[in-house]
Amino acid sequence: MKLPKYVSVPTPEIDLSRIQQLSQEHDDENCEFRSWLKQYAPHGIDGLVKTLSQKYFALIDCTQCANCCRSLQVEFKKSELHTIAKTLGQSIEAFQKQAMSEGKVNPPCPMLNGKLCSIYENRPDVCRSFPHLEQPQFTSRLIGVIENVAICQIAFNAFEELKVKLAWPRPSAPLRPNS
Ligand code: SF4
Ligand code: SF4
Repeated sequence: MKLPKYVSVPTPEIDLSRIQQLSQEHDDENCEFRSWLKQYAPHGIDGLVKTLSQKYFALIDCTQCANCCRSLQVEFKKSELHTIAKTLGQSIEAFQKQAMSEGKVNPPCPMLNGKLCSIYENRPDVCRSFPHLEQPQFTSRLIGVIENVAICQIAFNAFEELKVKLAWPRPSAPLRPNS
């Protein structure tokens, strides 16, 4: 399938309350889009999503957001946990007791300082790749993507623009007169 030409979109939505509200309102629509993508996503979908991710990373300032670090429970690798505990001057056992449950670090992340990551240069891999739009096999990760759309400005805007760029035939779109 030939991808549609690049479509410009208005200023990105960066209001987190509005993003949360719109994501709730788009819940059914996002499920329908997910089913459609599973069947009809073009071969170049990973590249297209990567391009959208890069576009919105360039437009959106994560240092003014930090919503992922404030709201998500994250799983770090063992080696990363040791580094974090060491940075905090704690034993790994103390860190696990204080900041973790079921093997995951509870939000807000203890490394968050205001809206900035205090270990940014050495942040764990999962933080580097969030919201995971630049990884392969986009269509096999759609449930996670839709969850992230509700909390992440980049994921929300990229996902909304993806609908436009793929000319997704919204099932609920009103019929035009004379159509
Ligand atoms: S380690 Fe840094 S980037 Fe990762 S969740 Fe914590 S504050 Fe955010
Ligand atoms: S990755 Fe998304 S949720 Fe995290 S700081 Fe950037 S815009 Fe906010």
